[in-house]
Amino acid sequence: MKDLLQIFATFGYNEEETEQNEMVLDLMDELCKKEIEPYAQEMDEIGCKFEVETGKIIYPEQTYKIVKKLGENDLMGLAIPEEFEGVGLSFTLTNACYERISRADAGTSLLFGLQNSSYDVIETFGTDEAKEYYLPKLASGQLIGGLLFTEPGAGSDLGALKTKVVEEGDHYVVNGTKNFISNAGIANTYLFLGSTSPEKGSRGLTAFIIETENNPGFKITRIEEKLGLHSNATAEVLLDGAVIPKRNVLGEIDRGFSVVLYELSAARIGIGAQAVGIADAAYRKAATYVKTRKQFGKPIESFQATQWKLADLYTKIHTARLAYLSAARMKDLKQDFSEYASIAKLYGSEITQEVTTEAIQMHGGYGYIKEYDVERYYRDARITPIYEGTNEVQRIVISRAEMAKDYAPE
Ligand SMILES: Cc1cc2nc3c(=O)[nH]c(=O)nc-3n(C[C@H](O)[C@H](O)[C@H](O)COP(=O)(O)OP(=O)(O)OC[C@H]3O[C@@H](n4cnc5c(N)ncnc54)[C@H](O)[C@@H]3O)c2cc1C
Repeated sequence: MKDLLQIFATFGYNEEETEQNEMVLDLMDELCKKEIEPYAQEMDEIGCKFEVETGKIIYPEQTYKIVKKLGENDLMGLAIPEEFEGVGLSFTLTNACYERISRADAGTSLLFGLQNSSYDVIETFGTDEAKEYYLPKLASGQLIGGLLFTEPGAGSDLGALKTKVVEEGDHYVVNGTKNFISNAGIANTYLFLGSTSPEKGSRGLTAFIIETENNPGFKITRIEEKLGLHSNATAEVLLDGAVIPKRNVLGEIDRGFSVVLYELSAARIGIGAQAVGIADAAYRKAATYVKTRKQFGKPIESFQATQWKLADLYTKIHTARLAYLSAARMKDLKQDFSEYASIAKLYGSEITQEVTTEAIQMHGGYGYIKEYDVERYYRDARITPIYEGTNEVQRIVISRAEMAKDYAPE
């Protein structure tokens, strides 16, 4: 943990905050070591199963234990204010924990990451009634968060989504299809974006909280077979007359796009952290392996080609870690962080692919074999340039921010 704490020490935390940061990171590391890492390979192999008849998704048994442990240890609501029964700690610390859990297992880390996004948005845009109802339940892990944004025809261009939301008496009724939904079958509280004024296009979208409990119109219709993240289900959801209570509007009617832009910006810092966690896991395996593997009568670590690879990879991991932690710190300090969130996501997700590829290379043929974990890291890393906005979208965000700046000499 020294690497993270050395960076934290440059952020000016006081003694009490430093103690809290160390304590929480220790707790997270211990839970990862006991409950997640030893099961990661097994969870990857078992994956998630969809029961067509019941519409239920069965996760590996260990996943349910992990959710319970995270809740019992107050790790599901780290940045929820104490007045809502959370721990009231920083977004920076939360993301450092996201790195750690991703190092143990990237699929499992989505449980933690999407929980953070859910409570952050509810706290920022929710009605008082929604905050009082949802935040304590998210903090204890009784409720698990997810995101219902993407549709078959609306991915990068969320403004093109078609799911309709109509007001009926004291609630809203929703009809449409969402796809690629993470945490499906285990999440029960989703942030959702739908069209309340179809004639206004992207200016007619509204964000809501939608629950699965007592909501028969919320139906999981399939899960995807995918390259990595096998310990987390990615599903299609049919909203067939699903209902949303009035108190669950996030922000203003027809202004949902700004809510989602906020969520995406903050979550991109999390993907930066997730990418660093996967890269760090792969790097550690490679740095250990090269000490013991001998060729030409010497450990392969003694070849300069290997040493320079380690230097380059660690430099990139450290830089990506600085990028996500500094963006998170900007958010905690209420500075404008969106360009830096995109940089953290873009850079972290690019280097994690390079690091996981090189970690396989440094293992030679063994790297290609499941037993050595690095092939799983390689598969898991590949999602990071795609979700929460593809890296092409990040380049659009960064270039727009750059073009708006005036660098001409005064
Ligand atoms: C495993 C997994 C989990 C996911 N989890 C969730 C979830 O929990 N909730 C949720 O709502 N969504 C989720 N998603 C969806 C994810 O966010 C989208 O897949 C992503 O935003 C890209 O959308 P798309 O797949 O429709 O690709 P498209 O938008 O069709 O993009 C295809 C390609 O075109 C490029 N492109 C598009 N527009 C432009 C442009 N203007 N300029 C340059 N290039 C462009 C893209 O960068 C990409 O390379 C998940 C996806 C996966 C695979």
